Amino acid sequence: MRSVYQAKLVNGVWGDPGVCIDLKYQRRAVLFDIGDVSALPVRMLLRVTDVFVSHTHMDHFAGFDHLLRVCLGRATGVRLHGPPGFVSQVEHKLLAYTWNLVQNYEADFVIEARELHADGHVHRAQFRSREQFRREPLVDLQTQGGLILEDEQFRLRAMPLEHHDIVSLAFSFEETTHINVWKSRLEELGLPSGPWLTELKQRVRAQEPDDTPMRVHWRTREGSREQTFSLGELQRDLLEFGRGQKVCYVTDVAGHARNRARLEEFVQGADLLFIETVFLDADQELAARKAHLTTTQAGEIARAAGVKQAETFHFSARYREQGPEAHHREFRRAWRPDEAAA
Ligand SMILES: [Zn+2]
Ligand SMILES: [Zn+2]
Repeated sequence: MRSVYQAKLVNGVWGDPGVCIDLKYQRRAVLFDIGDVSALPVRMLLRVTDVFVSHTHMDHFAGFDHLLRVCLGRATGVRLHGPPGFVSQVEHKLLAYTWNLVQNYEADFVIEARELHADGHVHRAQFRSREQFRREPLVDLQTQGGLILEDEQFRLRAMPLEHHDIVSLAFSFEETTHINVWKSRLEELGLPSGPWLTELKQRVRAQEPDDTPMRVHWRTREGSREQTFSLGELQRDLLEFGRGQKVCYVTDVAGHARNRARLEEFVQGADLLFIETVFLDADQELAARKAHLTTTQAGEIARAAGVKQAETFHFSARYREQGPEAHHREFRRAWRPDEAAA
């Protein structure tokens, strides 16, 4: 089954932490953390609809200005999601600039900021360029089980964890069922590709009855043609279904038992886990003091959760000279001990 998204670290293992998920076929992208994002091409930043910020230490949030600058004239908005206090922090970022000319832009660029609280309520506000980014209230939302966003393509869950005396959110991106079109069968049936296939997938996802008629028009050299099918037969003949993938992002969390227990459940069965390994095993005391994970702690979490693929990041600059090998080795040893021993 071909994947409909691509998930990548923005700055490799040494730079500011962050992951970009590019939903290729929707011309849409989401970001986990927004530290330095200058490595992302502008066309990618322009696709970003949602940014999920674990916490607002600078290395996770300083790229907000860059995103804002790139997206300012854009007509579609961006949603930013973060921990308690986040809405005011977005507001203060915006208050730091002078916006007397911004209403002259043709497009109204809208920023929505959301913060998730421990009891599951989400506090929100919006900031529109037409209003010189003055804060406008929005009604609060109530979430269940950390589900902070749900749309046609994916569900997004957040899990609050401890990082010193503040909250750092871990995130889980869960793709809804994959639906692919068998191109060869389409050709066999002499049907065209085109926007009607998107409509077909939408109606199947919405679970419309099998006998729902669906009309397909297309043009051939002989002129335009039209044929009506039932939703059920199109689904049977043309579509392939697969389980959606789960991608998790974990950074800046203390390695103590409370966090680990919550994480093991949260990232359970992930197809791909991005997890910080700031410190090597030998520096576990330092890791505890700084409220970060070590290689071995991260590997043990990945092992307990049965994740299928993992990538580590946010390596401390203190190891830069010695290179990334020790991080990879120690993590691997804890994650897949049998393999490492072989
Ligand atoms: Zn950090
Ligand atoms: Zn931090």
